[in-house]
Amino acid sequence: MSTSVNSALAAESAKSKLVQGYEVVIGFETHAQLSTASKIFSRASTAFGARPNTQACAVDLALPGTLPVMNKGAVERAIAFGLAIGAHIAPRSIFARKNYFYPDLPKGYQISQFEIPVVQGGVVEFYLGEEKKSVRLVRAHLEEDAGKSLHENFVGMSGIDLNRAGTPLLEIVTEPDIRSSDEAVAYAKELHKIVTWIGICDGNMQEGSFRCDANVSVRKPGQPLGTRREIKNLNSFRFMQQAIDYEVRWQIEEIEDGRAIEQATVLFNPDSGETRAMRSKEDAADYRYFPDPDLPPLMIDAQWVEQVRAGMAELPRVMAERFVKSHGLSHYDATALTQSQDVAAYFEEATAACAQPKLVGNWIMGEISRRLNASDQTIGQSPVPAQTLAQLIARIQDGTISNNAAKQVFEVLWSQPGSEVDAVIDAKGLKQMNDTGALEALVDSAIAANPKNVQEFKAGNAKALNALVGQIMKASQGKANPQQVNALLLKKLGA
Ligand code: ADP
Ligand code: MG
Repeated sequence: MSTSVNSALAAESAKSKLVQGYEVVIGFETHAQLSTASKIFSRASTAFGARPNTQACAVDLALPGTLPVMNKGAVERAIAFGLAIGAHIAPRSIFARKNYFYPDLPKGYQISQFEIPVVQGGVVEFYLGEEKKSVRLVRAHLEEDAGKSLHENFVGMSGIDLNRAGTPLLEIVTEPDIRSSDEAVAYAKELHKIVTWIGICDGNMQEGSFRCDANVSVRKPGQPLGTRREIKNLNSFRFMQQAIDYEVRWQIEEIEDGRAIEQATVLFNPDSGETRAMRSKEDAADYRYFPDPDLPPLMIDAQWVEQVRAGMAELPRVMAERFVKSHGLSHYDATALTQSQDVAAYFEEATAACAQPKLVGNWIMGEISRRLNASDQTIGQSPVPAQTLAQLIARIQDGTISNNAAKQVFEVLWSQPGSEVDAVIDAKGLKQMNDTGALEALVDSAIAANPKNVQEFKAGNAKALNALVGQIMKASQGKANPQQVNALLLKKLGA
């Protein structure tokens, strides 16, 4: 694409960012549940799905005389996150009590970090198509989760399950840098990729391991930031997009009708597709934060940081950049092929074996993804190993089979795991005819048998050639090499 077309497109997309003349402004707060086996301040298990209150120990129940003890694994996960996004890791950070009353919070306060969080600054970079975006982070801090109120199966009362109380969370807060729902979803996907890639969070959105709150406001370009409303607990990327789009339209309508937006916390209802105010928003002052006297400052020295760094694999964004530079992939493809470590490993193994990165990428993002999605499987469960895909691609490249035949071979490879590419090609008789002598004979008889088509072609009707190619493909039962047929025809017809 030429530079002028590129910049025209960029200008177009900058314009189209406005919704009915308003600029959308979004900041994210994400709670990533850290994948430690035990809780952040106690030894109770964090496993999901246990019977209510079987995984809440004396500390989680806030029994008198109990004291919190910091889980080292949770701190290491926070450090790893900070390193992954190029943040400052605070050598000394402070735990604070966030005070509020709720039945699922037995202490009457949540242990969190307020004034000095463990991770400060940093940036999440990603591509929206081929356009590079960066979202600055304000902070990421450690805190404990609360329990859960249960409303089903109770009449006139609620149950409380404290299994989740004390589960370690990393709350990741962005600057209000996001400018559209597309960008919001791309940011959330990138963040999800980072935390799962570095292994600090299992990323399961249904189970609540990765929960996003989107703060949304609108303004006329050049105006100060508008008043925001916070959409809570977006637990799927699809709902995230729907909720933000609805909220933006709702806010614009309110403003256009002359009403002011009031700061509020809202919930998205997937059934109606609408957001609705839940409560007006508390201020930090309402929580009466103060340093928790039960926990000493969290001290992290450079040696500890280096130890965590040494254990970290190549990051997804760095790997994607490498795929762009050394394999000539687009940013879009590189992003898709680094969606998880498994996908990236599969891509690298197949590419190393057949040296066709673009084709390997197309197969992974096409046939393979389609089938894996349909059966809700991941690439680690693919019945076609990377080496086998590479072999199939090699057979297309060396002219043994056509693209169409390759699809048929793939079908067999998929449905009969363990099949060999060459054996399937033989068994199904899919080898292309590359023998010029035999092809020439087919071409000659097609020309002899279809004088009308030949005449039309000579009279300037290019489509008539396709009819001849079709005849020959049919006569060869689809095995003739179409490029060679084309070339031979053109030669014989003197074109
Ligand atoms: P609070 O402490 O009340 O949660 P913060 O200042 O921590 O408020 O901001 C919370 C989130 O809201 C951050 O991600 C921030 O970027 C975002 N945010 C702040 N102001 C706006 C705004 N006017 N529009 C959209 N998002 C905003
Ligand atoms: Mg906040």
